[in-house]
Amino acid sequence: MACEYPDLRKLSRTMMAPTHVATGLAIAVPVATVAPEYAAAAVAGSTVGSLVPDLDLLVGEHRRTLHFPTLGWVVAVPVALAAVVTPSAVTVGVALCALSFAVHSAADVLGAGEEVRPWERTNPNAVYCHLRQRWLRARYRVRYDGAPEDLLLTVVLAAPTVVLLDGPVRWFGLLVVGIGAAYALVRKWLPPYVARLVG
Ligand SMILES: [Zn+2]
Repeated sequence: MACEYPDLRKLSRTMMAPTHVATGLAIAVPVATVAPEYAAAAVAGSTVGSLVPDLDLLVGEHRRTLHFPTLGWVVAVPVALAAVVTPSAVTVGVALCALSFAVHSAADVLGAGEEVRPWERTNPNAVYCHLRQRWLRARYRVRYDGAPEDLLLTVVLAAPTVVLLDGPVRWFGLLVVGIGAAYALVRKWLPPYVARLVG
């Protein structure tokens, strides 16, 4: 009888979740600065949009089912234009969600392939392009999720939120950096630990 252990490759992301969230925050900052009344909607929308693609860790095929590196823009651009023409908390939130969703999928190509230990570079598939119906090759600009350069990206991308915004959003930006730093610290120890957990 086949054993159904969790797929260890799913441990790997091209960039860690805090980097994607920080990217969404960086997109939300100009909106929050220009139209503070939509700051909460912008931050909430961008956070959701930057996290949703990696839900295919849980359902479907990771980096394929919910990742749309090119088609994501086909939705994001008109939705963003609609928010500019008819701004409201809903349209701004949905626009930031769609933009962050598209950016996450496209940015994944800059990281590693789907590997238990991405630093070993055994699988070059970064993210699936539904338009071209093929996997896009990993560029390894970020060598693996949780790499020092990944954490640096998180810090740089979250900085505008921490510096320019205030209140709960600023604390949220700091929390994202803190989670990223903790993940980066333990990243290379995770594969054997997870392997033991799942037998
Ligand atoms: Zn992803």
